[in-house]
Amino acid sequence: MRPTFIRKSASELRVPPNLPRPAEREAPLSVQAARHALAGLPGGGLNIAYEAVDRHAAGPRANHPAFRWLCRNDAEQIFTYDDLALLSNRFANVLNSLGVGKGAGVFVLCGRIPELYVAVLGALKNGCVVSPLFAAFGPEPIATRIALGAGRVLVTTDTLYARKVAKVMHALPTLKHVLLVGEGGATTDIPGTLDLRRLMDAAADGFDIVPTAAEDPALLHFTSGTTGTPKGAIHVHDAAVMHYMTGKYALDFHPEDIFWCTADPGWVTGTSYGIIAPLLHGVTSIIDEADFDAERWYRILQDHEVTVWYTAPTAIRMLMKAGTELARKYRFPDLRFIASVGEPLNPEAVWWGQEVLGLPIHDNWWQTETGGIMIANTPAMDIKPGSMGRPLPGVEAIIVRHEDNGAVTVIDVPDVEGELALKRGWPSMFRGYLNQEERYRKCFAGDLYLTGDLARRDADGYFWFVGRADDVIKSAGHLIGPFEVESALMEHPAVAEAGVIGKPDEIVGEVVKAFVSLKKGYEAGDALRLELLGHARKRLGAAVAPKEIAFVASLPRTRSGKIMRRLLKARELGLPEGDTSTLEGGA
Ligand code: ATP
Ligand code: MG
Repeated sequence: MRPTFIRKSASELRVPPNLPRPAEREAPLSVQAARHALAGLPGGGLNIAYEAVDRHAAGPRANHPAFRWLCRNDAEQIFTYDDLALLSNRFANVLNSLGVGKGAGVFVLCGRIPELYVAVLGALKNGCVVSPLFAAFGPEPIATRIALGAGRVLVTTDTLYARKVAKVMHALPTLKHVLLVGEGGATTDIPGTLDLRRLMDAAADGFDIVPTAAEDPALLHFTSGTTGTPKGAIHVHDAAVMHYMTGKYALDFHPEDIFWCTADPGWVTGTSYGIIAPLLHGVTSIIDEADFDAERWYRILQDHEVTVWYTAPTAIRMLMKAGTELARKYRFPDLRFIASVGEPLNPEAVWWGQEVLGLPIHDNWWQTETGGIMIANTPAMDIKPGSMGRPLPGVEAIIVRHEDNGAVTVIDVPDVEGELALKRGWPSMFRGYLNQEERYRKCFAGDLYLTGDLARRDADGYFWFVGRADDVIKSAGHLIGPFEVESALMEHPAVAEAGVIGKPDEIVGEVVKAFVSLKKGYEAGDALRLELLGHARKRLGAAVAPKEIAFVASLPRTRSGKIMRRLLKARELGLPEGDTSTLEGGA
C-alpha cells in the first residue's frame, strides 16, 4: 500500500514557494492587495490586456519572451512583451477602423496560431467582449455560440471559414466583419470577408486603450458541455485580480519560469492560464500548435526546459498509457511544478508523476463559472493523492446540504459529503449566464454560489471530489461517486481509463456499470472482466464495486478532455444523446 501523503520538505523545493506553509490562509497577498499589485489603467479603470502586456512592455520586461510559439512543423517563433504590445495595438486599431467599439462581441475561431492570441489581447484593449472557440467545432456549434453572443466580428482562417463558417453565415445577422488569416501566409480574397494580414500591415502601431472599468464584461466562455448544453459564462476585467493571485499561489510563477499550459483557449483554462495569468506575471509561455502526441510532449518539456506545467488528467492518463519506457527516454531537470485541472485526478496519476517524472501532479479545482483556480494543491503543501487540495487564500469553500426543494444548509462537520459551495464575491466569479438569467439566479443561495459538484472536506481542510451532482449513483441506499470507482479500477495494471455510470435497476435503484479501456498488451475478455470485478470488490466492497464491466477502445470525451458519463449512460439506455457539440471527434 502506498502512503496517504506525499510529504514535502522545504529543501526539496527548488525555489521558495510564493505561498509558504503553513500559513496558507494568511497569504502574503489578500485579494485587495492583489488588486493593488496590478497597475490599473493610467486614467483609472482596469483592463486585462493592459495588465498582461502593456505594463510589461513599458518596463524592464519589454524584451522578455512572452510566448515561444511552436509551429506544427517544428518552426519556432518568439514574441516578446514588446512584440505583443505592438501587434495587439494594431489589432485594436483594425477593430476601431471597422467601427467596432466597446462592448462588441469578438469571436476567435483559430487553431493555436499567434493571431488568436493577438486578437484576444487586441480585442480586450478595444473594450470588446472576446470569446475564443475551439477550431475543431463543427458549423452548428460555431453558429449557435456566435448567435447567442451576438458576435459582431469573427477572426478565423480561410480554411476554417470555407469548411465551417460560410455555410452558416445566413444564420448570423449580427456578424458584420469576418477577418481571415490566410493559412500558409497567403492573402485571401473571399467575398464578404477581409484579409487580416493586410489590415494589420496597414494599421498604426500605437493605440490608446479604450477605458474599461473593473466590472465591464471582457470574456465570454462556454462551459465544456459535460453535463448538458454548454452555457455562456460572462467574465469581467476584474477577473485579472484572481488570475494574478492564482498564478502566484496555485501555479507558483517566478520571473524566470518557462510555463506550459496545454489547454486550448477554446475553453476557460486555455484563456485564463494559457494567456492571461502567465502574462500578468511577465513569464514566458510555450504555445504548441500541434495536438497531443506523447513523444512530442516529452520533447517539449525537455528541450524547452519547461519549469511549470499545467495540464489535464486526460493528458496524463494518455501519457501513462504510452508507457514508462517512453518517458524514461527524456530528462526533465528544469521541471519543478506540475499541476492538473478539469477532472478528478486519480491517485494513480499523482503517483505516476512522482515515480516517472520525479514530481507529483498537483490537482486543482475550478470551473468556467469561477474563472480561476479556487481549490489547489500548492507547492509547499503535502499532497493527499486523490484530494483536490485546499481553498486558496481569499476563497471560502463550504460543503452544504442542498435539498431538492432548494433549501441549503451548511455542513460544519468534516468528512460528510455534500454540494461544494463558494462564498460569492471573488473577482473572477462569472457575472451571468448569457440569456439565462433564471439559471444564473438559481446558482446562488444567499451569499453562496452552488457549484453543482459534490465533495467532502476532511479534518485537515483538504477537499475530496465525489462527483458531479448529475453523475452520482444511488444504489441500495448508498451514494456512489463515479470517481471513487474509476480510481479503484485504475489501480489495476491493465486499466488505462474507466468511466462509471448508474444503470437503472428495479431492486436497488441503480447498479454500477464501468466502461474500461485497457493499456497496451492486455486483452479484453471474460477472464480479465472477472479479475477486474474481483479487484474492485476487494478495494471498494460489494455495495460500491461495479456489477458490470464493458471493455471499450476509448471513452467519449469532451474536446476539453472530460469523460462524458451522460453519453455513456444515454448510449447504454438507448436514450437521445442530447447536445454533443463539444464531443471529441464529433462533427
Ligand atoms: P458543463 O457545465 O457544460 O456540463 P463542465 O462543468 O465540464 O461542463 P467546465 O467549467 O469546463 O465545464 O468544468 C468544470 C467542472 O469540471 C467542475 O465543475 C468539475 O465537475 C470538473 N472539475 C474540474 N477540475 C476538477 C478537479 N480537479 N477535480 C474534479 N473535478 C474537476
Ligand atoms: Mg459545469
